[in-house]
Amino acid sequence: MIQDQIESIIQSTSFPDVFHKSVLLKPNMLSGSEPDKAVTTHPEFIRAVIRILKIRGAARIVVGDSPGVGSADIAGKKSGIKEVAEAEGAEWTVFREVTRVPCPSGKKQKQFSLASISQEVDIIISLPKMKTHKMMYFTGAVKNLFGLIPGLKKSRFHMNFPEKEDFASMIVDLFDTVRPAYSLMDGIVSMEGPGPGNGYPRQTGLILGSDNAAALDWTAADIMGYKVSSIPILHEIMNRGEWLSKEMTIEYPALHPDTLKIKDFKRIHILKDTGFFKKAVPAVVYNTLKNIYIPRPFFKASPCILCQNCIEICPADALTALKDNPGKKINIDYHSCIRCYCCHEVCPVDAIRIGRF
Ligand code: SF4
Ligand code: SF4
Repeated sequence: MIQDQIESIIQSTSFPDVFHKSVLLKPNMLSGSEPDKAVTTHPEFIRAVIRILKIRGAARIVVGDSPGVGSADIAGKKSGIKEVAEAEGAEWTVFREVTRVPCPSGKKQKQFSLASISQEVDIIISLPKMKTHKMMYFTGAVKNLFGLIPGLKKSRFHMNFPEKEDFASMIVDLFDTVRPAYSLMDGIVSMEGPGPGNGYPRQTGLILGSDNAAALDWTAADIMGYKVSSIPILHEIMNRGEWLSKEMTIEYPALHPDTLKIKDFKRIHILKDTGFFKKAVPAVVYNTLKNIYIPRPFFKASPCILCQNCIEICPADALTALKDNPGKKINIDYHSCIRCYCCHEVCPVDAIRIGRF
C-alpha cells in the first residue's frame, strides 16, 4: 500500500535513474525512538523505498544515519530501521569513517567532515519525517542532511553558529555540498508540538516527493500552516536563489498544498530575528534580554532518569548532574546556554520543558 503510493509519486516527479547505481538512504533517526512516536522515519516507509529501489535495479542500497548522542546501532534497533534494512537485503551502516568535503562557495563553512559513505555512493536520497523543530521551527529533507555529520561533531556547529540565521546558512552550505538526488518525506503520521524529539504524533496521511529538497520542504511547511519565508533555512535558500526563488513556481503534478493545509497543526511559535538585538545592544544587556525573551530549557526532576544524554550533547557545557538530589537532578547555567535545544531533542523521557517561565 505505502509502496504503491510512493511509486505513484515518484512516477509523476523526476526520480533519478538508480539502475546499477549505489544509493544511500538517509532517514531521520534522531536518537532512536519507537516508530509510533513519530520521531523517526517509519521503518515501513523505508521498507517500501528499499523495495522500489530493488525493483528499479539499484546495485547497492545502504541505509544509515548518525544520532546526536549514543550508538547508531541502538538507535537503529529502537526505531526498527536497522531490522527493516537488513530484512530487505540493504546494508545497514554506521557512520564511522569521515571524509573532508570542500564547500568552496559556502557562506559559513568551506568544508564539511561527512560520513565517507555519502561520498562513495552514486545517489543520496533524503527520507525525512515531517516534523516541527523547537530551534528551527520545522525540519525536513534539507535539515535531515545534518545527520551525515557523525555523532557529537554536530553539536559543535551549534556553538559556532548559535543564532538561527547563521545556523540556517551553515545548513544550506551543507545542502549545497551534499545535493541529494531525491527526497521523500514520511508525513503519514507527522509530529506536531514540541518536536523534533518530544512532540505529538498526528495522523496527516501525507507522502511528499521531489528532486528538489527545498521545494519539498517549502511545501510541507506550507501544509503545516507556517509562514514559510519565516523559517530560517527556507528563507536562506530563497535568498540564495538557486533552489528556490521568487520567480520560480513549484509544480504539483498530484495534489496542491492549498487543498491539504492543516489549519490547527501545532506549530512552533516563530520568534522575531534576535540577531538585530545582538548587534545593537551590549553583550550584558543582550544576555539579560535573551534570558527573558528566548525560551529556555527547564529540567524536571521527574521523570528524569539521569541518562546524561543532555549533558553529553550540550555544546555549551551548561549542564551538570546533581546526584542524590531528588528535587533537582540537572543543573543549568542559563548564562552559558545558547538555546540550541539539543538537550530537549535527545531526552528520552520528556523531562525537559522549553518555555519562558
Ligand atoms: S542547555 Fe540545552 S539548550 Fe542550552 S546550550 Fe545546552 S543543549 Fe543547548
Ligand atoms: S533531563 Fe532527560 S536527557 Fe537529561 S539526564 Fe534527565 S532524562 Fe536524561
